[in-house]
Amino acid sequence: MITLRTKAEARAHVMAARAAGRTVGLVPTMGAFHAGHHALMDAARESCGEVVVSLFVNPAQFDEASDLAAYPRSEARDAAEAEALGVDVLFAPAAEEVYPEGFATSVRVDGLGDVFEGAERGPGHFAGVCTVVAKLLNVVAPDLAFFGQKDAQQVAVLRRMVADLDIPVELRIVPTVREPDGLALSSRNVRLAPAERARAVALSEGLRAAEAAIAAGEDDPALVRGAAVAAMAEHDVEPEYLALVDPDSFSELDRIDGRVLVAVAARVGQTRLIDNALVEGSDPFWQRNEVTPVATPAQRASTTTKES
Ligand code: AMP
Repeated sequence: MITLRTKAEARAHVMAARAAGRTVGLVPTMGAFHAGHHALMDAARESCGEVVVSLFVNPAQFDEASDLAAYPRSEARDAAEAEALGVDVLFAPAAEEVYPEGFATSVRVDGLGDVFEGAERGPGHFAGVCTVVAKLLNVVAPDLAFFGQKDAQQVAVLRRMVADLDIPVELRIVPTVREPDGLALSSRNVRLAPAERARAVALSEGLRAAEAAIAAGEDDPALVRGAAVAAMAEHDVEPEYLALVDPDSFSELDRIDGRVLVAVAARVGQTRLIDNALVEGSDPFWQRNEVTPVATPAQRASTTTKES
């Protein structure tokens, strides 16, 4: 694996790979790798001859300076893990390389980028995400780009951007990787104190309760939501939002009839966590994860929870 720091080097490297007939895959990340990132890299390795992982903690998408400052950074460890997974290129540019003097352009997805995460984290959040991803797609020009279902609204926003701007790339979405007790892996989980880590299971438990209610035939979103909020309350966690939405438009549903995304955000202590479940049939979200399957309640009772 080679580490490249400049856009010119990355562009030249990928052009050579493409000229040699290799399919190029891009995995955009902000580093502090965990098994969720590994799953994206594995998926890219499986379907691409040349795998580029970008590592850039994007200041433009952080609404709070303290959140940006506290964001975990571990490039040396990340590079070793990416290399072990067979990644070809780690593209790790400095902020000045991405946003040079005079930078003034922003990519915004109206509507979809303003609700839920966009509303909670501020209007700049998804504009920051879209701008940096558009730039990465322009620099690397991958055939395929890999993103996690963990950030479901980011997926919807990026799909919209790629379609609207005619960017010639196929997005591949990888299922959420979870801890054995259901907590979705996140770089932020390391900030949870042990008691908070125990309570953080509230989010996936809320999603399970919602999915169970839907599976039992409940088609009223308010009642499904009530079941999910009650399950979260058992862990003393109140959602910032918990909504049943259309997975593409993120508009709230009046009635459940077909595909539904249950999206949740909550603070556990000072740490803000998000999770979601895509319910589209008889296949429960927690069994769809092939990398770290969520244990059944009986298995959970007999295992100790692993800290990420
Ligand atoms: P980040 O470094 O947090 O920006 O995440 C980089 C990519 O990894 C994004 O596409 C995320 O959606 C994805 N990702 C983060 N957590 C998980 C997870 N638990 N399972 C699968 N993908 C994830």
